[in-house]
Amino acid sequence: MTQLKGEKIKHLEIILKISERCNINCTYCYVFNMGNTLATDSTPVISLDNVYALRGFFERSAAENDIEVIQVDFHGGEPLMMKKDRFDRMCQILLQGNYRSSKFELALQTNGILIDDEWIALFEKHQVHASISVDGPKHINDRHRLDRKGKSTYEGTITGLRLLQNAWQQGRLPGEPGILSVANANANGAEIYRHFADTLQCQRFDFLIPDDHHDDSPDGEGVGRFLNEALDAWFADGRPEIFIRIFNTYLGTMLNSQFNRVLGMSANVESAYAFTVTADGMLRIDDTLRSTSDEIFNAVGHVSELSLARVLETSCVKEYLALSSNLPTVCAECVWNNICHGGRLVNRFSRTNRFNNKTVFCKSMRLFLSRAASHLMASGVDEKEIMKNIQK
Ligand code: SF4
Repeated sequence: MTQLKGEKIKHLEIILKISERCNINCTYCYVFNMGNTLATDSTPVISLDNVYALRGFFERSAAENDIEVIQVDFHGGEPLMMKKDRFDRMCQILLQGNYRSSKFELALQTNGILIDDEWIALFEKHQVHASISVDGPKHINDRHRLDRKGKSTYEGTITGLRLLQNAWQQGRLPGEPGILSVANANANGAEIYRHFADTLQCQRFDFLIPDDHHDDSPDGEGVGRFLNEALDAWFADGRPEIFIRIFNTYLGTMLNSQFNRVLGMSANVESAYAFTVTADGMLRIDDTLRSTSDEIFNAVGHVSELSLARVLETSCVKEYLALSSNLPTVCAECVWNNICHGGRLVNRFSRTNRFNNKTVFCKSMRLFLSRAASHLMASGVDEKEIMKNIQK
């Protein structure tokens, strides 16, 4: 018997590496360019046997725990490097599982270049939520996101985004295609915001904090400046229909004291769990941690032998959850510690101190959280209310 059987779980999310190869070569990619060769050494595309094994994992998990939502995020590499007929079959297998009362959702993160009408038809058939990775206008995007010959990827990505947007407007897709973008210390956040909101007419996007840690030498303040420029532009726009996940999450916390979870960023892991399953069927913790080459990214086991309750009992997952819940020592006195919680685990890492460091982007977090609070106060929210909410 496992101690966690029977617990109600809000959200179980599996980042599924269906293709461990990519058609482009982004400089900041944690899969291929951050010193870990797991992806290049591994099986290129997930087998259908491993898809069946994952379905079994979900079925056992849903039988042991009442899980509100089970979500599979098709990831890579580039997930669309998988052949279409295998993608079709994979979705069928997953959707045919018996997950009791759980809602089951499919999502996909892609660079968009390979999207064509046949892919759109598959997303429609299986109601896959798709999101595109792009960093801004061509001159910014192509600083880091080039193909293997060093050529621009911008036009191909935007063509893919337009195909998705058209299909969504025709009511063929389950949701508006979103954009995922890495916050860039060397770009202007307002320019990127304007590009997404106006030029690309996207109403759902997110800025990711880069995956650097203390053994890299990132610009600790530049990311905060970028976020603040975008935040200022968003507030100046006054368009509530534009949802920017990182902003909505932190502002929401300041406003209502409910800790909203940003994937890999929050300490609140209670009843919401996200893990990675690589193409070989092995379940691992938080995909971004692979760039640390720390033992915490070692495989927990093969999905054929696991259920969520068993995963939560393993020592490495217990360590991961404890690390996520415990503040780095140096953050103890920080006014933001309840909302920032020392930052994402990958950003806390150093080889000497492992995860007991504040995020390498601490200055950025302070800049950004202060500006977000200032905007709320300028909009009439009482400072005492904000302080009360962030200290709960
Ligand atoms: S802002 Fe810096 S000191 Fe404060 S909790 Fe975050 S990482 Fe720690």
